[in-house]
Order: sequence, then C-alpha cells, then structure tokens
Amino acid sequence: MLIVKKFGGTSVANKERIFNVAKRCIEDYKKGHDVVVVLSAMGDTTDELLSLANDINPNAPKRELDMLLTTGEQTSVALMAMAMNALDVPAVSLNAFQVMMHSTSKYGNSRFKRVDTERIRHELDSRKIVIVTGFQAVNKYDDYTTLGRGGSDTTAVALAAVLHADLCEIFTDVDGVYTADPRIVKDARKLSQITYDEMLELASHGAKVLHNRSVEMAKKYRVPLVVRSSLNNNEGTVVKEGAKMEKMLISGVTADKNIARISVIGIKDRPGTAFRIFNTLSKNKINIDIILQSIGREGTKDITFTVSQDDLKETLDVLEREKEDLTIQEIKYDEDVAKISIVGAGMMTNPGVAATMFESLYNCGININMISTSEIRITVLIRENDAEKAVIAVHDGFGLAD
Ligand code: ADP
Ligand code: ASP
Ligand code: MG
Repeated sequence: MLIVKKFGGTSVANKERIFNVAKRCIEDYKKGHDVVVVLSAMGDTTDELLSLANDINPNAPKRELDMLLTTGEQTSVALMAMAMNALDVPAVSLNAFQVMMHSTSKYGNSRFKRVDTERIRHELDSRKIVIVTGFQAVNKYDDYTTLGRGGSDTTAVALAAVLHADLCEIFTDVDGVYTADPRIVKDARKLSQITYDEMLELASHGAKVLHNRSVEMAKKYRVPLVVRSSLNNNEGTVVKEGAKMEKMLISGVTADKNIARISVIGIKDRPGTAFRIFNTLSKNKINIDIILQSIGREGTKDITFTVSQDDLKETLDVLEREKEDLTIQEIKYDEDVAKISIVGAGMMTNPGVAATMFESLYNCGININMISTSEIRITVLIRENDAEKAVIAVHDGFGLAD
C-alpha cells in the first residue's frame, strides 16, 4: 500500500511529538507500506515568522513573505528525517523544489498546477520514508509560493492524487471532523463519515480542520481521505462520496470570523451596474460571498456583500479606484461581522431547516444581518461578538450534541 500521512503544526511542535510522529510512520513502513509524510511547520512557527516579518516591514513584498514562511516547513521535514534516522529507519526530506510541485504564480495563495512524482518514486523504490514540506510550491519564476493558511492539507491530498495513494490520512489535534469546532462546542459529536460536498461546505465556511482546497481536490481525484488524531489511535472521520450520514439532518455548524462586509451606496439603478461591480472585483481575483441588493430609491440602489478579510484592503482599493466609473457615491465597510453556517445534505428534502436555525438565534437575541443559501448550506451574517454563542445555540437547536 502507498499511504500519505500529513501531520499539522501541533503534532510536530516539539521533540517528543516529532518522535511520536516518526514512530507512527515507521509502524506503517515496517508493515511493508510505502510511506509519504507531509508536515506543517512546528507549533506556531508560521505565526511567529509572520510577526517577525511584520516587525521589519508591515508591507513586506508577498514574494519575500513566502520565501520566509517556507522555512517553517523546511525545518520540520529535516528534523523529522533526522528523528527517523536516529531510529535506524532510512528517510529523506524533500522541499517543493526537490519534488517539483508547480503552482500558479500568486504569492501567499497559490494553487497547484502540476506535481512531479519521479523523485518521490525513486526514493520510495529505494525503501525510504519520504518526508515532504507542506504548504509550499514553486511558480513559473522559480520562486517559492505558499498555498494559503492551512495549505499543508492540500499538499498531502495533491501528493495522494498524483501518486495514486491507497489512503491519505490527515493527522491533527482533534479526533476527527465534529458537528462543530470541539473547542467551542464542548459536546460536539465526532462524525464517523461525511461526504466530500458537505466537508467542502464546512471547510469553506470556517471549519479549519481541513483546508478547503484539499477537499476540492480529494473530491475531484477521489482520494480516500481520513481525518484523525496524531495523539491517539481513535478512529477518525472518513471523507468520501456517498457517506452515510447517520440519519442526520445537519452534519455541522461553523463560524467564520475572517470576513468583512462592504456596502456600495447610491449606485445608479439601471441594468449592468451590478455586473460591472462584480466583474471588476472578479477580474482582480476577489471572491465575493453573500450579496444583498437593496430596493432602489430615486434611481439609485445599494449593494452589500462580504469578502474574506484578507481581501478587504484590495477590494476597497479597487472600488475606490473605479468609484466614478461604477457610479458609487459612498463605500462603507464593517469588519466586526461573522458568518454562521449550517451544512447538511438532509436539508434538501426537509423543509423547516432554516426556520429552526433562525429560531435558535432568535431565542438568544441574535440579530441576523444577511442570509445566503446553497443546496446543502444556510449561512447568516451576525455581529462577530455573538459568533460563539450562535454556534452553541444552533448546535443545540438541531439536537446535535453527543
Ligand atoms: P493542524 O495544525 O493539524 O492542521 P488545524 O488547527 O489547522 O490543525 O485544524 C484543527 C482544528 O480545527 C482543531 O483544533 C479544531 O479546533 C478546529 N476545528 C474547527 N471546526 C472543526 C470541526 N468541525 N471539527 C473538528 N475540528 C474543527
Ligand atoms: N504552516 C502553515 C500554516 O500555519 C500551513 C499549515 O499548517 O497547513 O498555515
Ligand atoms: Mg490545518
């Protein structure tokens, strides 16, 4: 069997944990499996590197930021190879250049384009454990790029896809995917299975247990994916097509605080204005989420929408630049907002799901600002301060507790 095993930052935070991971990987290796290990940077290294950069230059070039951040993963893979060596098992660490993991050119948020397999195959054939840096890739300028925060999951799934791995295991600091973040909702329930589609909605709306692109890729290439703990042997959560959902209406509740709301006020109420605004933003690669258009008055209207906080500055810059062309009279924004989402394939066939969610929020006095839905998700925008309270209330409202 070929197994890809990914370990997150907390799982390799210190010497003891590095040896713990080394031993888990060696167990599989000694059973005769081919083992590819993907690692994140140790503990809070990525945050520490970011604050170091911020200290030197708050507007550091994105290229240099990626140059810096990729050192975190390079440190952990080298130390892991040393640990395995100390345990008398042949291992080799490889970075994105050595594997040749090609990405789009965008620094800080690149996507994989092509991943070569020759080097990894060669090392596996000589019976080594291969340890690869997560989160990083190389663009057409031969520069390092990073895949966005949490991107090591995507490295693991990409390698599992190109190597046709039999299994991709994502080891983290919780036992699997829960009905809500177990750090916020103490009685959240671990799911034994979840579909790719539901997992994608959860991951895209705040459940950071998996990077959303990793789920997208796992679905596309049908990568058998399991999320489990690096600290125990408990069964994790299987992410797959057509998973049985234990008769649950809702599979999870998420909160996403990393968003901002923007309003463009007083635009001309005529055909094409909305198109021109969102076309301008999409040309600048800015992702829009919830959109609300107000009823027009005196030939003008307002449009409110949400973006990721990481895109806020750029969005405001673009809108300011094009303000006249887009007939915008005023631009307002608010960062103190959060999105609460419920996800579940069951809601397609069950009316009343939205009402239950809204009732739970109403019962604890939380006001809903905006609403958006997909086939299997309902999202509301609320004040950021209310986020935890809302997740707990909605989780409770659907009776999801363990
Ligand atoms: P890693 O460093 O292993 O990649 P992350 O911090 O990226 O770990 O992701 C794991 C964390 O995701 C957990 O500690 C948990 O707090 C959080 N999380 C959020 N939503 C969920 C959920 N629905 N199920 C499980 N964990 C969740
Ligand atoms: N080290 C990176 C981060 O902290 C990537 C990852 O952990 O997946 O975002
Ligand atoms: Mg992560």
